[in-house]
Amino acid sequence: MKEKLRNKINLSDKDLLAYNKHILLEDIQTEGIEILATKHIVLIGLGGLGCPIAQYLATSGLGKLSIIDNDIIEDTNLQRQILYTSSDIGKNKVDTVEKKLKTLNSDLVIQKHNIKFSMHSSNLLKDADLVIDATDNFSTRSIINKATIKYKKPLIMGAAEKLEGQVSVFRNDLINRPCYNCLYADVDDKENSCMDQGVLSMLTGIIGNIQALESIKLLLNFGDTLESKLLLVDVKNINFRTIRISKDPKCTMCN
Ligand SMILES: [Zn+2]
Repeated sequence: MKEKLRNKINLSDKDLLAYNKHILLEDIQTEGIEILATKHIVLIGLGGLGCPIAQYLATSGLGKLSIIDNDIIEDTNLQRQILYTSSDIGKNKVDTVEKKLKTLNSDLVIQKHNIKFSMHSSNLLKDADLVIDATDNFSTRSIINKATIKYKKPLIMGAAEKLEGQVSVFRNDLINRPCYNCLYADVDDKENSCMDQGVLSMLTGIIGNIQALESIKLLLNFGDTLESKLLLVDVKNINFRTIRISKDPKCTMCN
């Protein structure tokens, strides 16, 4: 199915009202909304991080959002996965998210894939401007990192566990930049998921929102981003700090 992105230069009166509060911002203006309307983000994972990311991106002015997840909505999800209600339990996530986002913004082009992301499906990233990793385990994150290096796409990674979270921007579209594997190649327990340890719902909202924020800044090229940096968030003590990530010259993925 061939889907056309919205016309870059023809914002309707409806658009001007819908995006008014963004248009008023010096860093976005009408031009920023026109640019966003041509952009395509691939979002992998529709859980605690993916729900707020999808919700905010849907009303940002973005042209196209691809959503990838093969999960069914369960009653333990509702605590933090804010796009779902009790009547959605048992339904699949991509269909439910598509329906919710369409009620928020009927102009958004949505492409849904009810699959578990793997290298076999990595061609879904081909025409993306940017990829957001909102999954919850090391092995899938590692595959997404590899796929974004293959297709040269910027990657925004987020993670949340218990009361601590992380966000990073990896410029896998550029050479000589650190990748996710440079940072985590040595982690032993690659099957570990935040769901085994518990997670505070508000934390997933904070991390997801920062991922959505960084994606818009990157697409519109404004501000200082988390490029090659790791933001460490400790919500128990309200402590946010950023550390630099260096490229590992022995990394098997990005060299
Ligand atoms: Zn690397």
